[in-house]
Amino acid sequence: MTVFIPEDKVAEIKHTADIVDIVSEVVLLKKTGKNHLGLCPFHTEKTPSFTVSPDKQIFHCFGCGEGGNVFSFLMKHNGVSFPEAVQMIARRYGIDIPTQSMSIEQKKRFGERERIFSVNKAAMTFFYNNLMNVTAGQKAVNYLQKRGITKEIIEQFRLGYAPGTWDSLLKMLQKKGISHSLAHKTGIIVPRGNGNGYYDRFRDRIIFPIFDRGMQVIGFGGRVMDDSLPKYLNSPETPVYNKSKSLYGLHHAKKECRKTGAVFIVEGYFDLISLVQHGLGNAVATLGTALTSEHVQIIRGLIGKSGKVILVYDSDEAGIKAARRSIEVFEKSFVDAGILVLPTGHDPDSYLFEFGVESFQKAAAGSLGIISFLIESAVKKYGLSIEGKIQTISDLQGPLSAITNSVARSLYIKELAEKTGIDEAAILEKIRTTSVKTAHSGNKWPGHAIDTMVAGHDKTSQDKWKRIEEQIIAMMLQSPGIIPEIRNKKVLDNFESNTLKQIGHLIIEHKDFHVNGDVSNLMACLNDNTQRRIIASLAIGEDIWNDNGCRKLIAQFLNSRNNRKKTLLKEIKAAEDRNDHELLLKLLKEKQILVSRKGISILEFAGGKTL
Ligand SMILES: [Zn+2]
Repeated sequence: MTVFIPEDKVAEIKHTADIVDIVSEVVLLKKTGKNHLGLCPFHTEKTPSFTVSPDKQIFHCFGCGEGGNVFSFLMKHNGVSFPEAVQMIARRYGIDIPTQSMSIEQKKRFGERERIFSVNKAAMTFFYNNLMNVTAGQKAVNYLQKRGITKEIIEQFRLGYAPGTWDSLLKMLQKKGISHSLAHKTGIIVPRGNGNGYYDRFRDRIIFPIFDRGMQVIGFGGRVMDDSLPKYLNSPETPVYNKSKSLYGLHHAKKECRKTGAVFIVEGYFDLISLVQHGLGNAVATLGTALTSEHVQIIRGLIGKSGKVILVYDSDEAGIKAARRSIEVFEKSFVDAGILVLPTGHDPDSYLFEFGVESFQKAAAGSLGIISFLIESAVKKYGLSIEGKIQTISDLQGPLSAITNSVARSLYIKELAEKTGIDEAAILEKIRTTSVKTAHSGNKWPGHAIDTMVAGHDKTSQDKWKRIEEQIIAMMLQSPGIIPEIRNKKVLDNFESNTLKQIGHLIIEHKDFHVNGDVSNLMACLNDNTQRRIIASLAIGEDIWNDNGCRKLIAQFLNSRNNRKKTLLKEIKAAEDRNDHELLLKLLKEKQILVSRKGISILEFAGGKTL
């Protein structure tokens, strides 16, 4: 990756951005002391351990160890490169990035996403203008009016109209000098079957632009105005549009979701719009895909860990299908979800128009949790005959065994037992057989060693040293005034952990940091993720260091190291005398770590000459 945004520009952007603002877009943060705390967007957790420090402009998750500054956050969260992260922030704060200094190749790489966004934007304007055009858009305007869509909603969601011809959009693109190959990348035009040219993807349809959180147009949905098929047509996935991570209406719903701690998930564009029109702004729609864990992760970031998701469906079948599919997704994300199935013949749009918003909210408040909904639906479907009960239990077998929380599971089993009159133990037995069959036997240890210490002495002593060494680095990060002393006393030479030692040297070399204490800036100079995470974790602590405390820690550390050297020499001598080869080897290895920095080779010890 070539960084070609001028350094002073990056610095300007970094100084303008506030990490709490940026993270708050996706994580519900609560202020606790000096820091802000929320649920980590990078791993699933029940108790918030994701910490953001506004003072230091860094984040760190005590659960999974992820950490960094505002750029690393965006890179990791949005899966974008450094220049893209810089640009996202620049756009948000209205800072211009000069591009004229880039080479053609750089411009090409840097610009693809940007160019797709700009083509999408041009297309959105084109569709919108068509809708507003008295002649071309009349039919579409009539249709929207008939469905009760107001002018405000049209503006808010930038609705549009794609004319019925095969090349209106194509002609507009041509006029603007936008190449067909670029427009093809955005999915708005489609290559002709005979390989000769392109045609417009959306024709004679109402157009719904799909925005990302930053109000960039990432794709489009198009709906017919009569009974022709397909009823809905969506943009294909593109470099900027990923259906399993995108939700329609998210740009609009963010605020209301945070305020209410709840979100309605509907299936269609019009469902969403009619909820908004009835004052329920906390609504999003999936875009023709099943709800993914990425979706739930995004939503959880908005509504928090005690937030509530209500999935709205227009038929039992659709509800059951979605419920069965999404149990694991919700279970893994620890999100509370309910299923609301509207009366037969109604979708959210028609229901709201007929019964009003209060009735809708009342129904939502009474919506059942996913498993309870499935139990209820099965009992309703199969009845309470013996065969019906057997069928119900067998239907619930899979969903119940997908629940890993044993307390929740036993409560649901109890509910199922009560509804069917079948013994709890018998149900449990049935589910157990499923669980055994489906359980994964994979290795559950997620951690990988972040450090490479020389083996040879026991784990507890390694841990002890590492803890003190970490404390020293934390001190350097949190109280940079101590750095010269660390350097002068060659404290780092006594470190056992190579990683911590490297980090220590990096801090010493980074002279700016000694003056400004800007951890986020220090991170900007790192290419190594492990180092960045460790720095974040050690810098974000709220320890209070005073000069005395700092000096005491250094003295203590150096003393212990020296003492250990002395006792080690005695132990080696004793082991030699006793001819205890095993112990001797172990001690020599430890000795090697301790003295290698002084240039004494282990052979000299083995000969006993220096003892
Ligand atoms: Zn985490």
